[in-house]
Amino acid sequence: MNYKVPFVDFPRHYHGLEGEIDAAIKEILCGGDFIMRQQLRDFEEHIASFLGVDYAVGVHSCTDAMHLSLLAAGVGPGDEVITVAHTFVATVAAIVHCGATPILVDVSQDFNMDMAQVEKAISPQTKAIIPVHLNGRLCDMERLMKITRKHNLLVIEDAAQALGAAFDGKKAGSFGLTGCFSFYPAKILGGIGDGGIVVTDDSELAEKIRLLRDHGRETKEDIAFFGFNSRLDNLQAAILDVKLKHLPQWIERRRELASLYERGLSAIPQITTPPPPQPGRYFDVYTNYVVRAEERDKLVSHLGQCGIEILISWPKPMHHQPALGLGHFHLPETERISREVLSLPLYPELSDDKVEYVIASIRNFYRD
Ligand SMILES: *Cc1c(COP(=O)(O)O)cnc(C)c1O
Repeated sequence: MNYKVPFVDFPRHYHGLEGEIDAAIKEILCGGDFIMRQQLRDFEEHIASFLGVDYAVGVHSCTDAMHLSLLAAGVGPGDEVITVAHTFVATVAAIVHCGATPILVDVSQDFNMDMAQVEKAISPQTKAIIPVHLNGRLCDMERLMKITRKHNLLVIEDAAQALGAAFDGKKAGSFGLTGCFSFYPAKILGGIGDGGIVVTDDSELAEKIRLLRDHGRETKEDIAFFGFNSRLDNLQAAILDVKLKHLPQWIERRRELASLYERGLSAIPQITTPPPPQPGRYFDVYTNYVVRAEERDKLVSHLGQCGIEILISWPKPMHHQPALGLGHFHLPETERISREVLSLPLYPELSDDKVEYVIASIRNFYRD
């Protein structure tokens, strides 16, 4: 279907950067630099400096970034790792693939980890916590870091949706032992395929993850242990490096569009808009613009008829997926959210007019 307002517009995004991206691709092809070359090192250095951390290690995806972080930190069988069910399944998969046990807690009104629930979920087996900074807004990191210091727990941040977002002036990914990011095409900084990165201030850990991502190869001769093939391609790194320069400007545009939505939607009683910005405390980047709506499913089909493409993350909570064996968790807010949320189109290329059209279409639905 050809939408009037598509949820994403990759071709348009590309055309805005066509010359720069084509030049980067050509340089790679002509130089034959495909794996672990200068472009990757440059990108790692640039993103580390953007985030204010010491080390960045490019990997295949954010899923791998979390998996390798947990392995490098020594999390394994017998350990419990606390996270939320209201996240992409990859967060929990990373825990399971280390042999550790996921403990799922509920979220608060802002869709992020409920810190009171975290404290209750801590047991003698708890080894780590994975806060998920959903929709471009950080978890309450002051409270979380206090809890984890008190109980001596590791923090691995799932910052897949929070590149550039900050809490108390400190960027997502720079709080925990590691921060994990995704460059999946639909993320705020997207590649032309999969990609991810681990960031940390711990030099030993960075080195361990460098080995884990490349078969444990220490030198051309020496293998330190059995590792993985989880490298970030040079081509992806080069394109991401081009895009990174534009990211601050894109974030500004996202925040502008979010405030347009907020102005238009906050007067509609059947709609709950995202938590308002709190200057100085939360710097949100609106990776997704998620609202709660009465009669959600009817609204979504109405918007479809208006030519507006909508995404629902996630219509079926993870602990209700029978195949995953997580049915013993009881998470009422997560369940409510899955029935009420929808994500509206928001990306830097979207015009103000299109946003006004989405707002008008929502208003019309509740008026009728
Ligand atoms: C996208 C996403 C992931 C997975 O990232 P990949 O790079 O696709 O592995 C993990 N967690 C959250 C919250 C995400 O949005």
